[in-house]
Amino acid sequence: MSADPMSSLPPELADVTYRPGDEAYAAAATVYVRTGSPALVLRPRTVEQVAAAIHQAVAAGLPLSIRSGGHSVQAWGTNDGGLVIDMSAFAGIEVLDDDRVRVGAGARWGDVAGTLGTHGLSLTSGDTRSVGVGGLTTGGGIGWMVRNHGLTIDSLVAADLVTADGRALHLTETENADLFWAIRGGGGNFGVLTSFEFVAQRVTTVHAGMIMYAPDDVPGLLDGWMDAHRNGPEELNSTLVLFPELGDPMPPAGLMGLVCYAGSDGAAAAAAFAPLLSLGTVRMSQIDEKPYADVLEEPHPPAGVRSMASNTLVERVDDRVVDAVDRYYAGGTTERMMFVRQLGGAANRVAPDATAFAHRNVEALVLGGLFAPEDTSDDELLARLQPFEEFHDLGVGSYPGFVATDLPEDVERIYPPATLARLREVKRANDPANTFRNNFNIAP
Ligand SMILES: Cc1cc2nc3c(=O)[nH]c(=O)nc-3n(C[C@H](O)[C@H](O)[C@H](O)COP(=O)(O)OP(=O)(O)OC[C@H]3O[C@@H](n4cnc5c(N)ncnc54)[C@H](O)[C@@H]3O)c2cc1C
Repeated sequence: MSADPMSSLPPELADVTYRPGDEAYAAAATVYVRTGSPALVLRPRTVEQVAAAIHQAVAAGLPLSIRSGGHSVQAWGTNDGGLVIDMSAFAGIEVLDDDRVRVGAGARWGDVAGTLGTHGLSLTSGDTRSVGVGGLTTGGGIGWMVRNHGLTIDSLVAADLVTADGRALHLTETENADLFWAIRGGGGNFGVLTSFEFVAQRVTTVHAGMIMYAPDDVPGLLDGWMDAHRNGPEELNSTLVLFPELGDPMPPAGLMGLVCYAGSDGAAAAAAFAPLLSLGTVRMSQIDEKPYADVLEEPHPPAGVRSMASNTLVERVDDRVVDAVDRYYAGGTTERMMFVRQLGGAANRVAPDATAFAHRNVEALVLGGLFAPEDTSDDELLARLQPFEEFHDLGVGSYPGFVATDLPEDVERIYPPATLARLREVKRANDPANTFRNNFNIAP
């Protein structure tokens, strides 16, 4: 083993190796939440180079990060002193035939939506343009079509993976089926994914926008919001954001319903939105028909602040959950905010053991978050998030994409015991040395 990652680089990596000072190094070392200082960034362009890059990390005994879109909220796409495999060269987006599409792991969802849109197609994914295909897909994928078209992994029919020992494997329901099961929710634990094949949806335009409410009757509004979804069509997708007083230029504390009727039928969309528009005190609303790609946005986190978040998936937003939301939000008088994201529908029609995302009987994802000044320590951030703890007893587990903590109990919250046991078996068979550990780690 060599401690110097530069001393023994194989020739096939020479053209794709970046060091401090290179422009490509800086771009890959920086992720959504921080700037890392890896010893080396490798940006492979071929599957063989991916295998060589993994081999390099193992041979040099270096920590390894896999980076696709760099939006892990734990900054797992970068590190200090280790090696980053930057997948941004694997960014192809191809329509293979009819509605089957192949997407590179390093592509971004905004580009995927834009390209597929020109073919009259869309793919159920997330809400943010710059999030990467690799990270979101391996976590599950919750977005604006989740209730009528399921999680992103529910549209996945094949994937290509390079394992810790350099095998290039094609994964489907029948080929390397254990790994195909495991990568659909099991994160980056099993190797480096280079590309994915999905069956896309024939969704062109959607009706989307926002409804702003005063925070005067949170329990009544949340009850009504849930009923409108329970009784409404699965095309109705939404996130209810409960935000505190954030100061100028933000609006005063209140509730913002982000809504998307994932279909182009205007009359059906209006009927689906009508119950929402008759709830509470509506301050304003704006809903338009637009191409699906235009619903995805770029995040604009407030400058000079750090954020922290945790979430729980609930089977039903019942009275106990409504009461807990009301108390956590406290009328918008604290720094805390909350998101209630609608699930159910198609995402629940997949068997719990069909993929490593096992929570298939849930109605909503409840996320508690907060913003704090930039110099707030990790411990202090966690302490401020403490009031969210009670939600874990009200839910059945957590969604990894929105867990910003890195606590010993997080993995147990994400994977129910049977799923975790099966994931461990697949991990032992394919990565016994735990080469891929910069993630919600499945210990072999
Ligand atoms: C602003 C923002 C908005 C978000 N919105 C949504 C949303 O709407 N819906 C949703 O479901 N999630 C959402 N997320 C969560 C997001 O899905 C996860 O953070 C995801 O891990 C990001 O993927 P990435 O490729 O951009 O991240 P990266 O930091 O590049 O990767 C994160 C981790 O995923 C694994 N990984 C990534 N690529 C590969 C690969 N090619 N092979 C193997 N493992 C890989 C690795 O463990 C890696 O460390 C959001 C996150 C942010 C920050």
